Amino acid sequence: MANPSVSNQYNASHDPIYLDNLATTPVDPRVLETVLPYLKNHFGNPSSSTHGFGWKAADAVEEAREQTAELIGARAREIVFTSGATEANNLAVKGVALAATKEQGTQIIMCATEHPSVLDCKAFLQKQGFEIVVLPVDRYGVLDPDELREKISDHTLLISVMAANNELGTVHRLKEIGEVASENGVLWHCDAAQAAGKIPLDVDSLGIDLLSLSAHKLYAPKGQGALYVRSNRRPRLRISPQLEGGGQERGLRSGTTNVAGAAGLGKACEVARMEMAVEAERVGSLCAGLKRRFQAIETASFNGHPTLRLPGCLSVTIKNLDSGALMMALRDKVAISAGSACKSGFGAASHVLEAIGLDATSVAGTLRFGLGRFTKEKDVEIAWKHLSNALSCHTGPITNKIEN
Ligand code: PMP
Repeated sequence: MANPSVSNQYNASHDPIYLDNLATTPVDPRVLETVLPYLKNHFGNPSSSTHGFGWKAADAVEEAREQTAELIGARAREIVFTSGATEANNLAVKGVALAATKEQGTQIIMCATEHPSVLDCKAFLQKQGFEIVVLPVDRYGVLDPDELREKISDHTLLISVMAANNELGTVHRLKEIGEVASENGVLWHCDAAQAAGKIPLDVDSLGIDLLSLSAHKLYAPKGQGALYVRSNRRPRLRISPQLEGGGQERGLRSGTTNVAGAAGLGKACEVARMEMAVEAERVGSLCAGLKRRFQAIETASFNGHPTLRLPGCLSVTIKNLDSGALMMALRDKVAISAGSACKSGFGAASHVLEAIGLDATSVAGTLRFGLGRFTKEKDVEIAWKHLSNALSCHTGPITNKIEN
């Protein structure tokens, strides 16, 4: 059951039905309520230490730091607030590289399906003299921990392997990746923008040294994220800040802290921590229902790992489908995407779908669904009616039609 105290903002009687929760999530009313006072009365600068406006803001930021840390089993002082996971990823990967000595390592290993905010650091890092190794994934989008072990050398400084992929929903073998990293004494940066709050993540038991979060994937407003930086590593984990300025966030991220944004992320982490287990089950079963409906289409195949996956993500490829045309036909009825939202605006081919071995026609026939906290059974039913109608126009009649 959905939490009954949370109003249903996205009512099934209203089109379009939002099934794109991996692109972004609506703001949870409880998060909104937490955020608003910091945009109205409590507008102080948390660095103003000479009056109550500043103290109130600083208290909110510190409470948010605690809440954020608690979701991932970290300590509050290990959380650095940023403008999103893009900035957190850049700070982690470039920051570690630029702070390292040659003796600590000159090689960085990434996975082929990382978000562009990790992968596209490659050119910058190469210019700094780093060797970048990009490891492939299998047809489910899973990185083989043994292959990672083989590639790690004495020169490896850092591995950057995400927790869950934003196009496939595949969750990597996190425990084993952490073991490989710690056996070899290399740092592990984990982009958890999609996984945090959806599946349990504990930085200590997984052996994660740096972890990126994004508020807008967690039912909080956009423009806010965080980077977890392990504090108990010896020798100390050093990061070179990427912005010059006032030295906020322990010198790691200059710029006046976004108080409302941090408060929203903190509240969102608290809600996710309390409700994750129940929510994952509910959303997972809605997603399974959607998948069953697609199974009635003989030419449909599913992308990503069958069990190692986020509960709300479904990636489907349908033979001979032009996903762009389908989404255009459905634009007033159902909001979905072809791959990641970051890429869909540019019409670029998905590097993730290519990495799992899909050919260009299959990539063009792929749809991504993201079900979330506010998705109801009715939404899935109505969306399927629209989808199956549109699909029969685009690919021919759907055979073995099932109920709904
Ligand atoms: N990493 C992943 C896996 C993502 O899905 C996203 C958002 N699409 C990001 C990083 C970037 O997050 P943000 O929008 O907060 O910069």
